[in-house]
Formats: sequence, structure tokens, C-alpha cells
Amino acid sequence: MIQLSRRTTAVFSLRSNMHALDVHFSGRTLVCPGKDCPVCKCERPRRRYYAAARANQVAGLVELPPSLSHAIFELLRSLRRTSAVGLVLELERPTVRSTWSILRTKHVDATPVPERQVIEMAALLFRLDAPTNIDNWPLFQTFAGEAHRPLLAKTVLFEA
Ligand SMILES: [Zn+2]
Repeated sequence: MIQLSRRTTAVFSLRSNMHALDVHFSGRTLVCPGKDCPVCKCERPRRRYYAAARANQVAGLVELPPSLSHAIFELLRSLRRTSAVGLVLELERPTVRSTWSILRTKHVDATPVPERQVIEMAALLFRLDAPTNIDNWPLFQTFAGEAHRPLLAKTVLFEA
């Protein structure tokens, strides 16, 4: 996991495309199962993006805050690129509560991390058993959401 939350500068290169997950926050991040989600009755899920990345020889998953994922999508659009793989981002923000600004970008040749591996990293992040039969991201949203459904149901009970 490449942590951005407590930093004011960061440099990393993306090694996969950004993958969306709809989540709810209640102490920790819980993945929304979508259909018949107990929490969706009270609040809309929030969308977060995750990507494989590499920073200082460390490979891991990065959770991109909304302002940053938005800026990266805009950047890719302006560069007329569809793939984020190899995009190097140099980021800065005044304080840990501010939104990130992209200072500089460049592009390097990089081997994409297979989606299956991104899924394994995400499973670890969300404290799930490694899924065995899941090889695409939409299935992972369903798998993780179903695994989190009992936890989501509990948060609703406590708030009622
Ligand atoms: Zn939900």
C-alpha cells in the first residue's frame, strides 16, 4: 500500500489503470455490494479509485483521493491517452488536509500490473481472503461488497 494520507509531497508512477470502487465509510472503508445494500438506504456510496503504483522501488496499491483521480483523468484526456500505465506523477500540497496539486508529470515505459494482481492487492487492503475465481474488477466489487455486507448491516443497526 502506498500511503498518501499523511504526506505533503509524493512521487509515484502508475502501473495499472485506475479502478473504481463504490464504498461507504464507517470507521474503516467498506465496499458497497450495490444491490440491496443496507447502507445505501441511508446514504449514497462514494466512489474511490485504486491503482497499482510504484514509489521509490516500493510497489503497491494506491488509493487516490477524489480530487486527485479527477485530475489524473483530466490529464489523460488532455494527453489523449487511454492508459495510465507509466504515468509518473509528482505531487504537492500545502498541508495534509489540502487537495493535491500535480507539479510535474512524465511518462516512462512500464510493464502493466495484471488486473488479477491488482485485485489481490485490493483484497489485502480490504482484509479479505484472496479471491480465487475473480479475474476482473467489476466482479471484485461484487465479491468485496458481499464480504462486507454483514459489517455494513451492523453499522446501520448501530446508527438506528
Ligand atoms: Zn451501499
